[in-house]
Amino acid sequence: MKHIICSAQTCLDCKDPLCKKGCPVNTAIGDMIRLFLGGDIREAGEMLFDNNPLSIVCSLVCPHEKHCEGHCILNEKGTPVNIGGIENYISTYYIEHREFGKSELNGRKLAIIGSGPAGLSLAMIMALKGYGVTIYEAFDSIGGVLRFGIPDFRLDKCILDMFEEKLVKVGVKIRKNCMIGKTITIDDMFRDGFDAVFIGTGVWRPKTLGIKGESLGNVHFAIDYLKTPKAYDLGRKVVVVGAGNVAMDVARTAIRTGAQEVSIMHRGGEESIPAERIELEHAKIDGVKLDLNTAPLEFMENGVKYTTTNLEENTKGFVEADSILIAISQTARDLIVRNTAGLNLAEDGLLESDDDGRTTREGVFASGDVVTGARTVVEAVAFSKRVAVAIDEYIATFPPSK
Ligand SMILES: Cc1cc2nc3c(=O)[nH]c(=O)nc-3n(C[C@H](O)[C@H](O)[C@H](O)COP(=O)(O)OP(=O)(O)OC[C@H]3O[C@@H](n4cnc5c(N)ncnc54)[C@H](O)[C@@H]3O)c2cc1C
Ligand code: SF4
Repeated sequence: MKHIICSAQTCLDCKDPLCKKGCPVNTAIGDMIRLFLGGDIREAGEMLFDNNPLSIVCSLVCPHEKHCEGHCILNEKGTPVNIGGIENYISTYYIEHREFGKSELNGRKLAIIGSGPAGLSLAMIMALKGYGVTIYEAFDSIGGVLRFGIPDFRLDKCILDMFEEKLVKVGVKIRKNCMIGKTITIDDMFRDGFDAVFIGTGVWRPKTLGIKGESLGNVHFAIDYLKTPKAYDLGRKVVVVGAGNVAMDVARTAIRTGAQEVSIMHRGGEESIPAERIELEHAKIDGVKLDLNTAPLEFMENGVKYTTTNLEENTKGFVEADSILIAISQTARDLIVRNTAGLNLAEDGLLESDDDGRTTREGVFASGDVVTGARTVVEAVAFSKRVAVAIDEYIATFPPSK
């Protein structure tokens, strides 16, 4: 608490705050800090929640160095305000203390497919406006990547359980273990009286390298592994292929679940590693090693055949590994699009929509990673806020059904 207050006190309360511009949901950071230091923590919390129902999550997992804190003018002196820490303190206090209850229903029904950040934020916004909201989730728990991707040591899953409790209190119905596009389709939802349907199904199809050995028993995709790391026995030596944020999570999780030596294989130099610097630093502190300028040629049951990628000296080699984890990004599954007339896929396999989430089928909206490709939690929330406005506009064009 003391370091949070001290950091808040360093805020210069800029007239034209760059931190706010750097935040994808335009959090009024100056107001937040003023209210906090002035003893109005509830008001600060309300302001944050109304702007971003997932403020408590974003405060922990946002790439702060890229967004709010990276834009703070105090970076010039080397110590930006700890915006994430302050926001987290306020939002935790607020969500624990606020009484959530049902809003007066407006007679409109919204189906939300997927309970990741895109679906959860939209569900809370629309339920508070009076919509009858039902969430359909393929897994047995809500959260999407927040639950089945981001490791526990970065995001305590109790936060998601608490958020679920609040959603239920505001009247949201949650249907779990229900993969839409198989037994139940979007057409069934319209038949059953939903006025609009939202798709926030994310990107859960791992991209492959297309090299020999990818189907072997000791080779796993990052996104599958992270769902239930304890279900895997990776052995002593693990090679992670890829060097984005997901690769860092996988490598750190592998080390924490028993692997002795974990290295990240990256085709470029350290400066070209796409992960946030802070994620890379955390991985190094956890003992993860880097195999730089190296690309895999073939996976084998005892390791990886590779080639170096330095232009001058292109040599081949072999590194031993008990397990190999592939973390080179994901794209969208096409289950819903294949089973719904009128929806289009964009060229890259993502779902086609306009900037406000209107898909090519009337009444069907979408946001988050399924439209944008792999991005961030706060970007999914920002997108869903625009979708909320678009759904309101759409619904106003016809009267409620009886
Ligand atoms: C390992 C990992 C770590 C990350 N770390 C960070 C981070 O630290 N900070 C950050 O800001 N971002 C991070 N991201 C990115 C961020 O989590 C995503 O951008 C965000 O979760 C996208 O939200 P979404 O709601 O669009 O999709 P998702 O979170 O993917 O949620 C989609 C949900 O839809 C469900 N679903 C899919 N298909 C169906 C269907 N047919 N029927 C019913 N349900 C379905 C899925 O089960 C899932 O629950 C990370 C991503 C990964 C993979
Ligand atoms: S939502 Fe994320 S980017 Fe915006 S102020 Fe909060 S922590 Fe920073």
